Amino acid sequence: MPVSLSSSIEMIDTLQFGLPCIGAAYHIHGKRHALIDTGTSHAATRIRERLGSHAPDFIFLTHVHPDHAGASAMLAEAYPEAVIGVHERGVRHLVDPVRINASVRASTGPLADLYGEMLPAPLERIAVLTGGECFDLGKGIVIEVIDVPGHAPHHLCFFERSHRALFCGNALGIQRGEIRVPATVPPSFDSEQSLATIKRLAEYQPEYLYLSHFGEVRDAATYIDQYDLLLRAWVERIRDLRSNLADEEVVHKILSAPRFCRLKEKLRLELAMCVRGVLDYLDREAC
Ligand SMILES: [Zn+2]
Repeated sequence: MPVSLSSSIEMIDTLQFGLPCIGAAYHIHGKRHALIDTGTSHAATRIRERLGSHAPDFIFLTHVHPDHAGASAMLAEAYPEAVIGVHERGVRHLVDPVRINASVRASTGPLADLYGEMLPAPLERIAVLTGGECFDLGKGIVIEVIDVPGHAPHHLCFFERSHRALFCGNALGIQRGEIRVPATVPPSFDSEQSLATIKRLAEYQPEYLYLSHFGEVRDAATYIDQYDLLLRAWVERIRDLRSNLADEEVVHKILSAPRFCRLKEKLRLELAMCVRGVLDYLDREAC
């Protein structure tokens, strides 16, 4: 069963990497239904099972990375009335995911099969979003779209006003139990944009955060303040290390920290990607 977070919001664990509590999609319902993110292509059947008889009217994508949008084409086929809402800069990747699939294979290494292959979504089913749009689901549930570059240039968050609930995708990082890590994966993480996004999201004064990785955060203001500090420290730590070490030595050094030693191997590989995303950013910054 999905996890009910309120009378209008349910979390669906997408079992990303075959593990619980790694990836989440969210089902919001007023009179109409919205799904936020789809998980990887491997999650399509699970999403359909968890939605049951509630065919979504909208499939909103925080961004077009395969762990968030991987099942979009399959769910569009399963739910022929559903509109897919995606950032204007993500549309071309959604309808022609060749570059995304190649980029994922290049950057995720042994995890590539677990991310799966995205299939092309039909252009005529897409609602092009730029931020500022509002979708009224009925029963007082209104979803506002927020343009939040940083993790990716085509990243969106979705704010549900009546609950003051922010569905933040990867804009506010990854939380796995006690461990928090900035979501700074290649190819287009941008630190300056991410920090501006954090500030912008704080101004919405959300009460609840719904992280794609993973779950509900209740003290949103404290979490956002801490994430700002965490991201700054993470980037500066990697910047310091790379002044003396080769890139893969930096990755090894970060992963050797005691707090990361007990992570499962799949999550250590994902963490390594987050380090490489900062290294890529620092390379671009230097140009
Ligand atoms: Zn992502």
